[in-house]
Amino acid sequence: MAQTLLKVKGLQVAYGGIQAVKGVDLEVREGELVSLIGSNGAGKTTTMKAITGTQAMQAGDIEYLGQSIQGQGPWDLVKQGLAMVPEGRGVFTRMTIIENLQMGAYIRSDSAAVADDMEKMLDLFPRLRERKDQLAGTMSGGEQQMLAMARALMSRPKVLLLDEPSMGLSPIMVDKIFEVVKDVYAQGVTVLLVEQNASRALAIADRGYVMDSGLITMSGAGRDMLEDPKVRAAYLGE
Ligand code: ATP
Repeated sequence: MAQTLLKVKGLQVAYGGIQAVKGVDLEVREGELVSLIGSNGAGKTTTMKAITGTQAMQAGDIEYLGQSIQGQGPWDLVKQGLAMVPEGRGVFTRMTIIENLQMGAYIRSDSAAVADDMEKMLDLFPRLRERKDQLAGTMSGGEQQMLAMARALMSRPKVLLLDEPSMGLSPIMVDKIFEVVKDVYAQGVTVLLVEQNASRALAIADRGYVMDSGLITMSGAGRDMLEDPKVRAAYLGE
């Protein structure tokens, strides 16, 4: 079995008196695409934030490559190959597309390879090439999502965490984003995907987890979960 890259153990997170995450266990193995689905407010984003060190945890631990990463922030984690595209994208709106991509590679000193990767990103996302000198803040939501993904990929991550990449996008953009997620995975990047779009997320996943009210309530192979009547009734609108 492939090596476990990311392991969340007994994670608990509270906001004041509200216990948003109540003891979550999940793991992501090398080369996997794992989808975390669940309704609004289930605690998915909070789990992602705890993994990347942008939200403090009350209890539990998070291991990356077999070591606890508790207390480390996003910058430290990117250096170790764990990159995140947050909900709401977080692109640098007053920088151009190219400048955003350069920021994504800030941890790298291999400038020739960075230039190569920049070309690869502009091939993968032709829309970004068309607009490479445009300010990121002037782009549509879908274009900003693509930029955020491309920027994260510029760090050459081992694991890419994606928080609701399809949120608020037009159906055509949603298709494009899921295609890109599949492409990235096919190229060997391990992916943890948080999505409201459960059917699409499970269809491309090796494994899936369902989160409800701060707990993991189901897990299994993506395809099996897609066919599970309970998942279909609760999350696929059937
Ligand atoms: P969504 O799909 O709506 O983003 P989610 O599964 O990602 O949902 P979270 O955003 O993790 O859920 O929220 C889990 C719970 O924690 C919710 O009840 C939410 O209202 C609460 N919560 C999230 N962020 C905060 C915060 N900064 N302060 C207080 N409560 C919060």
